Amino acid sequence: MNQPTRPLPADLPGHVRHYIDGALVDSADGATFDVLDPVTNEAYTRAAAGKAADVDAAVAAARKAFTDGPWPRMLPRERSRVLHRIADIVESRDARLAELESFDSGLPITQALGQARRAAENFRFFADLVVAQTDDAFKVPGRQLNYVNRKPIGVAGLITPWNTPFMLESWKLAPALATGNTVVLKPAEFTPLSASLWAGIFEEAGLPAGVFNLVNGLGEEAGDALVKHPDVPLISFTGESATGQLIFANAAPHLKGLSMELGGKSPAIVFADADLESAIDATIFGVFSLNGERCTAGSRILVERAVYDEFVERYAAQAARVRVGYPHDPATEVGALVHPEHFAKVMEYVELGKGEGRLVAGGGRPEGFETGNFVAPTVFADVPRDAKIFQEEIFGPVVAITPFDTEAEALELANGVRYGLAAYVWTNDLRRAHTFSQSVEAGMVWLNSNNVRDLRTPFGGVKASGLGHEGGYRSIDFYTHQQAVHVTLGAAHHPTFGKGA
Ligand code: NAD
Repeated sequence: MNQPTRPLPADLPGHVRHYIDGALVDSADGATFDVLDPVTNEAYTRAAAGKAADVDAAVAAARKAFTDGPWPRMLPRERSRVLHRIADIVESRDARLAELESFDSGLPITQALGQARRAAENFRFFADLVVAQTDDAFKVPGRQLNYVNRKPIGVAGLITPWNTPFMLESWKLAPALATGNTVVLKPAEFTPLSASLWAGIFEEAGLPAGVFNLVNGLGEEAGDALVKHPDVPLISFTGESATGQLIFANAAPHLKGLSMELGGKSPAIVFADADLESAIDATIFGVFSLNGERCTAGSRILVERAVYDEFVERYAAQAARVRVGYPHDPATEVGALVHPEHFAKVMEYVELGKGEGRLVAGGGRPEGFETGNFVAPTVFADVPRDAKIFQEEIFGPVVAITPFDTEAEALELANGVRYGLAAYVWTNDLRRAHTFSQSVEAGMVWLNSNNVRDLRTPFGGVKASGLGHEGGYRSIDFYTHQQAVHVTLGAAHHPTFGKGA
């Protein structure tokens, strides 16, 4: 089948540059790298390839804005106003943002639009939170008053992945800026396009020059230089667990503050008493939305034996109807994977799965998509617990289904991987829902629900899925020092030394 002609976004930049100290600049050595369109895999633009010299310049600008500029010294209400203006601008450009994001990343346009709105909401949320922020104060009557003096830390290094680029950048930028830090952002090299819009948005909203800096480039060059920079005391990283381990080691000599949001292989556990219709709808969405390129994807579905055959049959039939299409098409449910390298990795797992489980849907390219990074929603049933497709993060539209007989076995299967990001439990038994949540090794649990986040709750994983938590007050804590100030009231109390005879 021939594909119809695709509309391209208007005004695609011929060149994506860094943004340092309020100016768009090229790399010091002039180096660039190709950025590919995931539908054709052709380069549609080039981006500046930052290295240590560019990171040095960005950190110097951020450092100066922190030590000499107004931003860290402004009242929370003043910073909050700027953040609300940022949210307003993002909201007003949601269609353009979604168009560029979808084009660059291959995400379906409707889902990219949802992510753009979430990005605006992140700014609004932290704009409100810093104004409402209270800090601890403790009084010992008549003797002592102790209070917390909360202070921004300095230059925050923010390193982000390609799966929902703009939204994940906002998730770090909003709390880092709200608390008065200055930042250097290193976005993912596969998807630099939407990040290039931040500079204009921030300028328009009135963020002082030097507070936000952006360096494009490869992880092992620009990212590495940021992690190892002595003037960057904080690194907030989202990406693969293996990259997180490397960053942890590279940051160790500097004793940096680290927040790590890493990979996942999250289980959805479906008990026989669950509302099967809802469980199927939610677990289809849970692994195939965002092209399956979702850290919290429920990519392992554990189903109680009594409903297993029915579940697999209905699930496979519905998965086969999930609509793969061009990212720009509003009817598309699964678009194109971000990059040919990632596509090759996902396809390797699809082939591997054919030997490890029973293929019941998908299993390769969808019909009519002979080129580009398209993968048919793929379902494997009867997947044993030692299978690679059960153990390893695939990060694509591929799911493993496994039966269980008892609650204890379900728990053992759920916990039997190195990751621990999310878990989804489907049951109408109240006791079981809560006791299972207590025992499952996951940073976040959803009961009879998809991944619906409340921005006030902690976000983060256990085991190989992460270190530390962001979300709500946890983000404020990560981006600030809490200095304890102790004040004597009345007479000073202390043992007296050196006054003996
Ligand atoms: P990745 O680890 O390859 O890259 C992430 C970022 O790190 C990129 O900007 C990259 O350039 C940079 N980087 C790579 N090597 C580096 C180094 N040595 N030093 C410093 N920076 C370096 O991850 P990815 O492929 O872009 O993203 C997919 C991964 O992200 C998946 O594992 C997914 O689960 C995870 N993820 C996790 C969450 C979460 O919140 N837990 C959210 C989204 C994605």
